[in-house]
Amino acid sequence: MNASSDIKRPDIANFRRVVVKVGSSLLVDPVKGLKAEWLDALGHDLAAMHHRGVDVLVVSSGAIAMGRGVLNLPRGPLKLEESQAAAAVGQIALSRAWAEVLGRHGITAGQILVTLGDTEERQRYLNARATLGRLLEMKAVPVVNENDTVATNEIRYGDNDRLAARVATMAGADLLVLLSDIDGLYTAPPQSDPRATLIPLVPRITAEIEAMAGGAASELSRGGMRTKVEAAKIATAGGTHMIIADGRVMNPLQRIAAEGPCTWFLTGSNPVSARKTWIAGALEPKGTLFLDEGATQAIRSGKSLLSAGVKRIEGVFERGDAVVMRAPDGGELGRGLIGYDSTEAALLAGRSSRDIETLLGYEGRAELIHRDDMALGAL
Ligand code: GLU
Repeated sequence: MNASSDIKRPDIANFRRVVVKVGSSLLVDPVKGLKAEWLDALGHDLAAMHHRGVDVLVVSSGAIAMGRGVLNLPRGPLKLEESQAAAAVGQIALSRAWAEVLGRHGITAGQILVTLGDTEERQRYLNARATLGRLLEMKAVPVVNENDTVATNEIRYGDNDRLAARVATMAGADLLVLLSDIDGLYTAPPQSDPRATLIPLVPRITAEIEAMAGGAASELSRGGMRTKVEAAKIATAGGTHMIIADGRVMNPLQRIAAEGPCTWFLTGSNPVSARKTWIAGALEPKGTLFLDEGATQAIRSGKSLLSAGVKRIEGVFERGDAVVMRAPDGGELGRGLIGYDSTEAALLAGRSSRDIETLLGYEGRAELIHRDDMALGAL
């Protein structure tokens, strides 16, 4: 790629929140089961990052592959319910393997199972995001997989590449590493074209790049290069850089750090500004909050919006919807994702955060809009 010749590949050591996605074939041997030695070596790489202060998240496949071994299911494609049954059995073993491997380095693992809806519906998105954020604050490593047992074909990702990209943007990660059984994106399928070469850097996903991954019409298997480029589109739009690298070697993250072969997909943005752009522009506001002078000053200085500073609200909205914030003079201050629905927000307006439990009957969040969920400045 000529365009990439003057742009350098970033250094993996410079990222502060990293999602590592591990595919089933890396983790599970169809005959021997879990590849414990390989996983142990990856555990070392992850622990080294974690001990440098990096927030580490894992997206791990392998539930179905582990479960089918335990249940002695035949080779070949499984029916949906059979895969779901296999996932139910395998997920227990998978989580345990991760908890043990990370535990050996004094790191606590937390299991998170999500569906497509959890990453798309804003209320559930906010909940999942908050849980991920809290686990990371506690220095635990979230280990995420799709909740295979509850999803039907229509409402499942089916591949963990795109799931990992959604998790990465949801968690505000600045890097996603897809460990795969190929060392990156090639100019053509390397199995069939001996002239195919590895592309080390993709500064922007163009139609040409998409064509290299297999045209939209081609039937590529789940988790193939096409879903990886789809994942790269999601990640880079959310301000997250992405790497595709071969995970079949021992210590694959060390190999990336040593500038081993892989493909980097770059983003021109970062997670914070990409999220603010999304809040400010992509969502249709469902209501308005009218702020007093104190709250106006507070949010302008980077604080969250508390209920006491809201004089009144307009509109009907759900938790997670976008709302407009207006200053006492009526001017638009910005937009944010509201933490309460409109009925609750109306009860809380003008009241102290200390009264939330008495007013709502449960202990709610102190912020009406968290500062991370706000984009200031009128459109
Ligand atoms: N969630 C599936 C599993 O754990 C894997 C999907 C994928 O490999 O992309 O088995």
